[in-house]
Amino acid sequence: MTTLFISHGAPTLAMEPGATGRLLAELGRSLPRPDAILAVSAHWDTTQPRVSAVQHPETIHDFGGFPRQMYEIQYPAPGAPALAMRVLEILADSFPTARMDAKRGLDHGAWVPLMLMYPQADIPVTQLSIQSSAGPLVHYKLGQALSALQQENIMLLCSGAITHNLHDFFTSDRNAAVLDYVPAFSDWVAGRIASKDIQSLLDYRQLAPGGNRAHPHEDHLMPLFVALGAAQGKSVRYEPENTYGILAMDTYVWH
Ligand code: ZN
Repeated sequence: MTTLFISHGAPTLAMEPGATGRLLAELGRSLPRPDAILAVSAHWDTTQPRVSAVQHPETIHDFGGFPRQMYEIQYPAPGAPALAMRVLEILADSFPTARMDAKRGLDHGAWVPLMLMYPQADIPVTQLSIQSSAGPLVHYKLGQALSALQQENIMLLCSGAITHNLHDFFTSDRNAAVLDYVPAFSDWVAGRIASKDIQSLLDYRQLAPGGNRAHPHEDHLMPLFVALGAAQGKSVRYEPENTYGILAMDTYVWH
């Protein structure tokens, strides 16, 4: 299993991929090609774990106020119902309230990075939801359960954001000057990931510089904890850019 955490940024990354898009394209070309992808997106937030099992997942345009072309993008990858069944089996003991969802397609937290990594849309993909109100430890344990897939040729693609405070979104300038807490927080996270200091990461709200400011809501950081729980081996940090002065676009890959 290859584990990734991707900062997906604004939905318009699909149309203006920039340095982040170039990085994701390069990862798509260079990482081992998986048989199927399990995406854990910040944009599917449920009270209990849900796994989508759809043959042909719909491309969900779960955003408002963007150019018309954004709503016309389709990512027609096949679904991965067999992987969904396997995930439910794996979660049965530690997450007995996990259930199948027979309708859910792909939200933009999944399809935007996927279309940049795998534009052919030919790798089966399914999604697992987060429970943002449950906090970091539950997501870390969710990842630990998923590490049962470690010996399989699966990609665990966790998609959120290293920094995500939309109250600080004041500019449409993708290259705007970066607010101080953005690199302070993302560098702190990078240091803790490099030293495998999971306990500090779980306590990021108390310990990290700008922890509360970087994540007034925790949803976009929860996929990182899933990745941390599931991953084995060494992590590599990629820092392609910061966008709109507030969104660090850090990506991590565990090999
Ligand atoms: Zn998002």
